[in-house]
Amino acid sequence: MDENIPVYEVTDANTRLIHLGSFGDLWRERLQSCDLTLAADAGPIQDNSYVAQDLGCTEETAAELRLICGVDALKCSENEEEDLENIPEDSSLLTLGIRKKIIDRRKETLIVERACRQETFLHELEFHAVGKRPEDAADMVDEGELVLTLNIVYPVIFRKHKEYKPYQTMLVLGSQKLTELKDAINCVSDMQIGGEFSNNPDLAPENICKDLFKSAFFYFEGVFYNDTRYPECRDISRTTIEWAESRNRGYGKFQSTKMEDYTFNDLRLKIGFPYLYCHQGDCEHIITITDIRLIHHEDCLDKTLYPLPIKRHWFWTRKCSVCSMYTARWVTVNDDLAPDDPCFFCDVCFRMLHYDTDGNKLGEFLAHPYVDPGIFN
Ligand SMILES: [Zn+2]
Ligand SMILES: [Zn+2]
Repeated sequence: MDENIPVYEVTDANTRLIHLGSFGDLWRERLQSCDLTLAADAGPIQDNSYVAQDLGCTEETAAELRLICGVDALKCSENEEEDLENIPEDSSLLTLGIRKKIIDRRKETLIVERACRQETFLHELEFHAVGKRPEDAADMVDEGELVLTLNIVYPVIFRKHKEYKPYQTMLVLGSQKLTELKDAINCVSDMQIGGEFSNNPDLAPENICKDLFKSAFFYFEGVFYNDTRYPECRDISRTTIEWAESRNRGYGKFQSTKMEDYTFNDLRLKIGFPYLYCHQGDCEHIITITDIRLIHHEDCLDKTLYPLPIKRHWFWTRKCSVCSMYTARWVTVNDDLAPDDPCFFCDVCFRMLHYDTDGNKLGEFLAHPYVDPGIFN
């Protein structure tokens, strides 16, 4: 068997190493152009003789199979379809049972609105680009392009998330550079504004960390892929490499190279294996490829929309501890006026509580700009 056909290394966890581009080639060699086409009118083959030949049965059997196994056979009868909110008591379908529980819970609780908003948001995110075709033909995804599904796990940012780590799911094309993925990963660490501004909150700079500290790396299979596109980028994998080499620590020799020189097709990776993305010095995300496949004519075919986010954890928004209405913009520590340490405020409440009408600081405290992860919702 070809070494680039994925087989499990650890059952149900990850495959052995495969070269992603070569795996794509194997598929493209075997499939026919009717399987690969991205034409708008491509769809299930309607010709029974083709199915009969493929399955080795008569055309009559093929026609009967089409009738029984077709999509139309999955639909319920018209009177069953009419009411999605009213679920019959005696239904033995597990899916209906789950739906009923959700509806009942909504009726009981007051957080209806948020639950609905989250559901709508997740649904929209998952389907917003399905079937989308580019306006400019030059932006069309190539036939036979590889599509990788990536899970990007977020570091624990709230105690709340200790048990369950939030993550984001993205679709990336095999021909895309690692830097394109890097630029598409949104993390609240990139949005921070460093510094203490209690003496003059108006001086808090607009510059976020993403603009100031651009260094980052992916770590795949013994190699650090560093972003070196900008003059201010530093090789932040150096420390780890030197540490590993400084004594005989048994890690072998790590290598480092340029992130911008590699596409996913160039890499040898394991599907399902946890790899690393590190930025802002020490903000570390586990990255896993959970699926690898070829592009389909019903996928989003606009190249410019990839890496395409399709799932995202709903981030909890930290509200101002005074008005409990607006999202926090400031966090104070050692604050005589605050009930908590650290304490979070919206801009209006922060200024009203901590400064007199002439803008003079009242009491002792340290104030830092705060960026809420909820901005990604
Ligand atoms: Zn991060
Ligand atoms: Zn407030």
